Amino acid sequence: MKYEAVIGLEIHSELKTATKIFCGCATTFGAEQNTHTCPVCLGLPGVLPVINRKVVEFAIKAGLATNCTINQYSKFDRKNYYYPDLPKNWQTSQYDLPIAEHGWVDIDIDNQKKRIRLTRIHMEEDAGKLVHSGTTIKDSATSNVDYNRTGVPLIEIVSEPDMRSAAEARAYMEKIKSILEYIDVSNCRMEEGNLRADINVSLRPVGSDKLGTRTEMKNINSFKALEDAINYEIERQADVLDDGGKIVQETRTWNPEKGITQSMRSKEDAHDYRYMPEPDLPPIITSAEEIEAFKKSLPELPDARRERLTKEYGLSDYDSGIITSSRAMAEYFDSVIAEGVDAKIAANWIMGDLSKNLNAENLTIEKSPVDAKRLAQMILLIDKGTISGKIAKTVFVEMWKSPDSPEKIVKDKGLVQITDTSAIEGVVDEVIAKNPKAVEEYKAGKKKAIGALVGQIMKATKGKANPQMVNQMLAQKLEK
Ligand code: ADP
Ligand code: ZN
Ligand code: MG
Repeated sequence: MKYEAVIGLEIHSELKTATKIFCGCATTFGAEQNTHTCPVCLGLPGVLPVINRKVVEFAIKAGLATNCTINQYSKFDRKNYYYPDLPKNWQTSQYDLPIAEHGWVDIDIDNQKKRIRLTRIHMEEDAGKLVHSGTTIKDSATSNVDYNRTGVPLIEIVSEPDMRSAAEARAYMEKIKSILEYIDVSNCRMEEGNLRADINVSLRPVGSDKLGTRTEMKNINSFKALEDAINYEIERQADVLDDGGKIVQETRTWNPEKGITQSMRSKEDAHDYRYMPEPDLPPIITSAEEIEAFKKSLPELPDARRERLTKEYGLSDYDSGIITSSRAMAEYFDSVIAEGVDAKIAANWIMGDLSKNLNAENLTIEKSPVDAKRLAQMILLIDKGTISGKIAKTVFVEMWKSPDSPEKIVKDKGLVQITDTSAIEGVVDEVIAKNPKAVEEYKAGKKKAIGALVGQIMKATKGKANPQMVNQMLAQKLEK
C-alpha cells in the first residue's frame, strides 16, 4: 500500500468507585432504570457537586502507572452540548489542566517493543443512556432515558497518533486495560461498556510526516470491533484517495452487522463545545508528597511482573508476556505454583488446555470451571506418576465438566496409570508377538519402528501404561 495509517485512541474507562463522581448515588451496573439518581446527577437547579476523593486518587494512579506527569494544579471545565442523556446540558470534564499528561506505555508488536505516547488523562462524568424500544433510534416507537449512568466517573486516556495498524491499536488498548486492571481502578468489562474507545484514523503517503485528515469512530467496545473498524476504515479511505477524492473530517459509526463504517455527523471542534471553567468545583491541588505516596502504593505493573517471571522462573519472555497480560491470569499462575507445581509446567497448562477451553466458551479466567487449586492438584498427580501427561488431558476435560477433585475423577474413570511391571510386561509381550514385521525392522536397525509398537501398547492399555516403563521394557526385550 502506498499509504501509511495513522491511528490515535481516546479510551474511556469507568472507574470502580462505589458512588458517582459528584454525588452519593451508587454506580452499580444493571439496576432498574433511573433508580440510581438524585438531584445532583439529574442536574436539577441549585444543587452543588462535590468531588469524590476516590476518583481523583484513581485518576492519579492511572496517570502514574502510564508514566504521566501529574499536574499538581488541575481543574474541571464544562463541556457544553445538548443531548437528552445529559441532563445539565454540559458534561463536567477537564480541558486545559487535566490531572495527568505526557505519559507512555510500551506495546509488543512483531516481537519488538514500541512506545505509544499518551497525551493526557482527564476525569469526567459519564452521560446517561438512551434505551430504544427498537434496535436503533430510527426504528423505535419509544425511547427512554436512563440516568443511572449519569455521573459515573470516567477517565479519558488520550493517545498521541502513534499507532500504524489495527494490530498496534489493539495491543495498545490491551495494555491500557491490563494496567487499569492491575492498579484496580476499573472493572474493564468491555461488554458492560466499562472500557470503550473512540478511534481516530487517517492516511498519509508513505514517507510523509504530515498528518492526513481523520475520521473518528466512537464507542467501540470490543477488541474485535476495534480491529475490524480500523481495517475497514483504512481500506475505505485508501479507496477514496485512490479515486482522487478527499477525506471528510467526520464522526462515523461502526456497524458490526454490515462490517462497515457509516457517516454520522461532521466533526465538532473544541470551540463548538464552548468550554468554560466549572465554577461549582474548586481546583484539585495535589502536593508532591501525596503524588509520591500514590506512586509508592502502586502494585507491581504488568511489564515489571513479566520481567520478574522471566527471571525468577526461567519462562520465555513470550510466555511471561501472556501470563502477565491480565492480572487475573498472573494471579491464577501464582496460585498454581504456590501449590508446588513447576512454573514452566504451570504456564504450559494455563496457556494450553486452560486457555483453549476458556476461549472456546468465551470465559474469562476468573470464571474458569477449573480453578488454580484443582489444576495444581491434577498436575501434581502427573508428578507423582498417578497419571501420565496424556491421560491428564482427559482428566482435564472431565474436570471442566465436574467439580470433583482430580483424584476422584481418576479413580472413578479408572484412569490410574499402570506402573505394575507384570501388567505392562504382558501387553508388551503380546504386542511384540503380534507385530513381527516391526520387530524385524527394529532389529535391522530401523530404530523408529519402536514408535509403532509403543503406540499399540498405549492403545491396548487405553493410554494408561506408564510411557517411560513401556519404552524401557520394549527396548530391553528387543535388544535381546
Ligand atoms: P478531539 O477528537 O476531541 O477533537 P484531539 O484533536 O485531541 O481531540 O484528538 C483526539 C485523538 O485523535 C487523539 O488520540 C489523537 O492522537 C488523534 N488524532 C489527531 N489527529 C489525528 C490524525 N490526523 N490521524 C489520526 N489520529 C489523529
Ligand atoms: Zn446522584
Ligand atoms: Mg475525539
